[in-house]
Amino acid sequence: MNKIPIAVAEGDGIGPEIMRATLHILEAAGAALEIHKVEIGEKMYLKGFPTGMDPKMWDVIRGTKAFLKAPITTPQGGGFKSLNVTIRTTLGLYANVRPCVSYFPFVATKHPEMDVVIVRENEEDLYAGIEYRQTPDVCSSIKIISRAGSEKIIRYAFEYAKRTERKKVTCFMKDNIMKFSDGLFHKVFDEIAAEYPNILNEHWIVDIGAAKLADTPEVFDVIVMPNLYGDILSDVAAQIAGSVGLAGSANIGEKGAMFEAIHGSAPRRAGQNVANPSGLILAAVQMLVHIGLVEAGEKIHNGWLATLEQGIHTYDIFKEGLSKQKVGTAEFGAAVIKNLGKNPQQLKTVAYSRAAEPLIHKHLPTSSSRKLVGIDVFIYFRGQMQQFFDRISHINVGALRLKMITNRGVRVWPQGQPETFCIEQWRCRFVSDEDKAVSQHEVIQILHAFDHVQMDVIKSEFLYTFDNKAGYSSAEG
Ligand code: NAD
Repeated sequence: MNKIPIAVAEGDGIGPEIMRATLHILEAAGAALEIHKVEIGEKMYLKGFPTGMDPKMWDVIRGTKAFLKAPITTPQGGGFKSLNVTIRTTLGLYANVRPCVSYFPFVATKHPEMDVVIVRENEEDLYAGIEYRQTPDVCSSIKIISRAGSEKIIRYAFEYAKRTERKKVTCFMKDNIMKFSDGLFHKVFDEIAAEYPNILNEHWIVDIGAAKLADTPEVFDVIVMPNLYGDILSDVAAQIAGSVGLAGSANIGEKGAMFEAIHGSAPRRAGQNVANPSGLILAAVQMLVHIGLVEAGEKIHNGWLATLEQGIHTYDIFKEGLSKQKVGTAEFGAAVIKNLGKNPQQLKTVAYSRAAEPLIHKHLPTSSSRKLVGIDVFIYFRGQMQQFFDRISHINVGALRLKMITNRGVRVWPQGQPETFCIEQWRCRFVSDEDKAVSQHEVIQILHAFDHVQMDVIKSEFLYTFDNKAGYSSAEG
């Protein structure tokens, strides 16, 4: 049988120990893999690679079917980019898939019935990393949600549910506040959900959804969410299932995939042979299923479940009275190897679908008539509202008129309230009367007018209508 090439990074802290245990299990299970080592992490950061990786390593990763990665340590101090974010965005790994399962009664949890898969969008949202310090005391981060990005992840969630015979896909978002960005995610969810009539669908505002997830996780099945909510809630879900040390995650793209434990490099536990390798073992199972070595994946997963049932536990899940034997990393790995070929007695035996993962590239671009109608100009100004207003109230160009001034989104003119707390960042909105189309030249002239009165412009945003509906939020604070 031809071996499948995979890239392997040992990482930092507990990484090398848990990777060693995992690779022994993969070998013992007869997984036909050709391993290509990749050096990443702390050493590489300290050698001067700001992303924690020598760019030459991209070719090694590209030449393989999957990347199995142990956690790395990001050195303290500024100037270091997140290697994970770099790998996910560079390789287009848009779907982060984290099964969070309870192993009751063998691992203590308040949620014995929990079996949730979190599908987190991986490329957009605030993780695009577009951030600015606009004034000495104001910073801003830009949240990007696109139709194409939302479609890919939401379709992936439904295809995942179909392939794994799950019954329901839930969407978490916050479109009561972010009507445009999260509103688009919600809209796309409704459109795609309609294509899967055999799978139930529902949506929750993320705050109450998160509360429900923490309280009654058994009511959820697959949950799809934008990047930031998914990042936070997948850790919460893994922890309430039993331990962050038990969860693996897959980062799936059209041209690559990366698999890792969800925890970090736990430097305090490094070199002591105590860390739980389970997260990385389960990530390796996800990898085997992804690359088509389904039998080896099932063998390892079921052997691992049998080991948990036998009460052979690492310190993090060891409980007097519940566990039988406290073991180290290597001994836990050896116990899993001994159990290869066995199925769990009480926990559910795992059987994975043989169907290949679908390629998610269908994109439904929308068409609408787009019209430029104005501009928002952001100004750095330290002073009172009235002083500010007096300096800019005369500005107008063609049909563009000053319609409102806001501070942190709250309208302060016209009809502002004296109680409103103002900071040094002001937004002035110029819109044409009756939303008449204006030219780029006219909106740029507005910027010139601010320059003329020596106002400190820090940012501008052009305002469009789409099919005569405003493509910008109003401020009715
Ligand atoms: P962490 O997840 O590494 O560890 C937090 C605590 O959880 C540990 O002290 C330990 O008590 C426990 N723990 C975690 N994994 C365990 C395991 N497998 N077995 C037993 N106990 C385990 O989080 P942290 O301390 O905040 O981060 C440490 C480093 O890891 C940082 O440099 C951080 O940037 C990095 N990190 C890397 C990744 C990654 O590479 N994917 C992810 C998260 C954090």
